[in-house]
Amino acid sequence: MLPVSNPATGQIVREVATASREDVSAAVTAASAAFAGWRATTPLKRARVMFRYKDLLERNADRIVALITEEHGKVLDDARGELMRGIEVVEYACGAPELLKGEHSKDIGPSIDSWSEFQPLGVVAGITPFNFPAMVPMWMFPMALACGNTFVLKPSEKDPSTAMVLAELLQEAGLPDGVFNVVNGDREAVDALLEDPRVQAVSFVGSTPVAEHIYRTGSANGKRVQALGGAKNHAIVMPDADLDNAVAALMGAAYGSCGERCMAISVAVCVGERTADELVAKLAARLKVLKVGPGTMPGAEMGPLVTQEHFEKVRGYVDLGVAEGAELVCDGRSLVVKGSERGFFLGGCLFDRVRPAMRIYQEEIFGPVLCVVRADSLAEAMALVDAHEYGNGTCIFTRDGGTARWFSDNIRVGMVGVNVALPVPVAYHSFGGWKRSLFGPLAAYGPDAVRFYTQRKTISQRWPGNAAETAQFAFPSSSTQG
Ligand code: NAD
Repeated sequence: MLPVSNPATGQIVREVATASREDVSAAVTAASAAFAGWRATTPLKRARVMFRYKDLLERNADRIVALITEEHGKVLDDARGELMRGIEVVEYACGAPELLKGEHSKDIGPSIDSWSEFQPLGVVAGITPFNFPAMVPMWMFPMALACGNTFVLKPSEKDPSTAMVLAELLQEAGLPDGVFNVVNGDREAVDALLEDPRVQAVSFVGSTPVAEHIYRTGSANGKRVQALGGAKNHAIVMPDADLDNAVAALMGAAYGSCGERCMAISVAVCVGERTADELVAKLAARLKVLKVGPGTMPGAEMGPLVTQEHFEKVRGYVDLGVAEGAELVCDGRSLVVKGSERGFFLGGCLFDRVRPAMRIYQEEIFGPVLCVVRADSLAEAMALVDAHEYGNGTCIFTRDGGTARWFSDNIRVGMVGVNVALPVPVAYHSFGGWKRSLFGPLAAYGPDAVRFYTQRKTISQRWPGNAAETAQFAFPSSSTQG
């Protein structure tokens, strides 16, 4: 059993049972047994389950949102936003029959037709992080199921209850027993999934060290793996940027969800001293009035960090930044939220004059800490982004089209915004970073999900007439065929 806390109160609200190897094996057995029937269910009937699921998710939204806020801490509006983004993937999955149509070529040779079809893999597993307990699981299972696979989900042990509601609603939507399964737990459950030969593929989202471990172990065990990792997303602020809009966007992107987003902006690179001076002054003024409190508090803009342990880790990074010589312009460490003194609250922190050699620049903090780096030119700013080990998201604030175009064309990052601070792709595109933010060739949801959760089979078919045939020893090609 592991404790699950409400981060706004610091109280343990429930416990989660951790799955043993036997429990995981039982879930995989159930998913294996359900596969043949689900695979044989027509794509349209599978899609109908998704249509009903979308409706049930919408009707149960308040309950799900409340649960996300209770266990994760994010403010209610933010929790609703993540649920909506998950529902958008369900909507995309409703169109799976169209996406699975395959490719067909008639007359590739004499009386020979050929086609490629996309068949489900079998049992696939999803391992998800704490920061989006609804959305990230829904990046995975709606498309996996709509493509005909069965699924075992291992959600984060820090906020596991949302996944149970997602499962309950799938059942209510008419999904047959065994097609979707949840196992709770930590490393032991994950290792059991990675080692089970019946699991064909693994989708992982979480921190980079674990993503790399999952990618290597899963691949070594012969599985198809996509493992999305951590991030350090830079925003470049050009001297010609609309600074008020940039500040508004950066506040949401850096401090929304208490900085616990893989697309959070954690570094603002200001081109020119004047840009930096003005941006820092405006951010500091806005941070003074940032409304921090329990996610359920009306008007709250930022909630607590997820656990006491994570709170201490993030706070430790703020101490480290001071020791490394960065200038702490706004210090959230002394924040006290009246009535919630035992919650895991840290106020918004802003560092200026951060240098690339500092650990607060290099490492993912995953908290409400924005680092400002000063650069002399766009080239210097872009070189910083390119040199960083992570390459999840980035954005530029500018009024110049040529600058924006040069930036988006050349920057070595997977998801790019131009005056958009959180360029999270919509459900009908795919989500994936570059460099050490994604291990594996295929990104999450969107068109890549069809490729990840299916395997291509190409069939060539000939119905010869009654004419006598002679043996052909040359390799068949367009020049040997009539
Ligand atoms: P985490 O890596 O600690 O945990 C993720 C999952 O892996 C959980 O289910 C956890 O139980 C399991 N796990 C943890 N340690 C493990 C181990 N040693 N072996 C096997 N399994 C293990 O991540 P987290 O703290 O829950 O989430 C935050 C991280 O996720 C951040 O780094 C964030 O950037 C990243 N993230 C990335 C994306 C993305 O799309 N790239 C999206 C969301 C979050």
